[in-house]
Amino acid sequence: MKNKFVVDRLRPFGETIFATMTQKATDAGAINLGQGFPDEDGPRSMLEIATQQILDGNNQYSAGRGDPLLRSAIAEDRYRRFKVEYDPGTEVLITVGATEAISASVLGLVEPGEEVIVFEPYYDAYAAAIALAGATRVAVPLKEDGDTWALDIDALHAAVTKKTAMIIVNSPHNPTGSVFSKRSLEALAGIARAYDLLVLSDEVYEHLTFNKIEHTAVASLPGMWDRTITVSSAAKTFNVTGWKTGWALAPAPILDAIIRAKQFMSYVGATPFQPAVAHAVVNEKPWINQMRKNLQTKRDVLSEALTHAGVKVHASHGTYFVVADIGNRDGAEFCFDLIERVGVAAIPVQAFVDNPEQWSSKVRFAFCKKEDTMLAAAERFRAAGIL
Ligand code: PMP
Ligand code: GLN
Repeated sequence: MKNKFVVDRLRPFGETIFATMTQKATDAGAINLGQGFPDEDGPRSMLEIATQQILDGNNQYSAGRGDPLLRSAIAEDRYRRFKVEYDPGTEVLITVGATEAISASVLGLVEPGEEVIVFEPYYDAYAAAIALAGATRVAVPLKEDGDTWALDIDALHAAVTKKTAMIIVNSPHNPTGSVFSKRSLEALAGIARAYDLLVLSDEVYEHLTFNKIEHTAVASLPGMWDRTITVSSAAKTFNVTGWKTGWALAPAPILDAIIRAKQFMSYVGATPFQPAVAHAVVNEKPWINQMRKNLQTKRDVLSEALTHAGVKVHASHGTYFVVADIGNRDGAEFCFDLIERVGVAAIPVQAFVDNPEQWSSKVRFAFCKKEDTMLAAAERFRAAGIL
């Protein structure tokens, strides 16, 4: 229903698909493989430090750019893994989740009327951030590539205009589970350099790649450090989606523009979580590795159960999502029906696109739940027969 109070630029955005599906799943007692959040906690040491920080009185505003300990931990980690250097004093910003890093980047760096290219299907927060900035979203569809998806570099090239200011890219990719090849990201980088574009690289799933597939940090590609904003978050790496602790890394002048927006959105994020995340970034690599292994097993359990239930399953090389193709049916109707009939919630991929035709038969399932939860979901699929 039309609400006269909503400003024009937010009119296209109703309740998020995640909130809708989670509510429906809760009401129906369904297993929630829709919204991507884990149902088990992150490393114990990290939880204990956060608790202790609160009890010890670290409960006031942090430094404007975030806890220096966390900024240093992130900068060192980036250097160790990708050989990209960031000064923790001027080139790292702690944000209220990756979501705020994304919104503040678009608000601080893109003028009203400029264009931002996103790859479709795209994470829903990109569209809202672009709309809030009064900018224009230009969606370039991913292309199917075997049993996964790839960047369509020709289509990207064709989408660039004089008004293009930024490309937003997300690898490992939500919702498809694709991990874009280094070569294709290099091609994207070539276009960004040729047309002098900023690139916002959303790397929240940077640690969640499977079968020895490597994550590529866009800022590490030749000529890209200068023009890349890298966004990530503790949410997916340490199972703390509710801590809303994320970050942005960029050269000082670019980060300065992002801070201009961020400081008035939230000023700072929650203080006591930051030393805890810093500890985890430095010390909990073995925990991350174990989680990644467990996720791979759960991906296989889910993919097999879906295949047995008669739907085509695409490969998931990263993130904690797998996409199924339900043939000649509508994904949204299928998802509503699945909750009632089978007791499992999923997300229709068409919620993330401007051009639904190519995507209306695709449905995203999350496999970041406990093994028991995944086995229970698999059992529900088995009991339901052909989906
Ligand atoms: N980007 C992508 C691709 C995501 O899937 C999510 C959701 N976790 C976010 C950003 C937002 O991350 P956060 O919860 O840290 O705000
Ligand atoms: N990133 C999560 C997902 O894709 C959910 C985030 C949200 O609910 N906004 O499922």
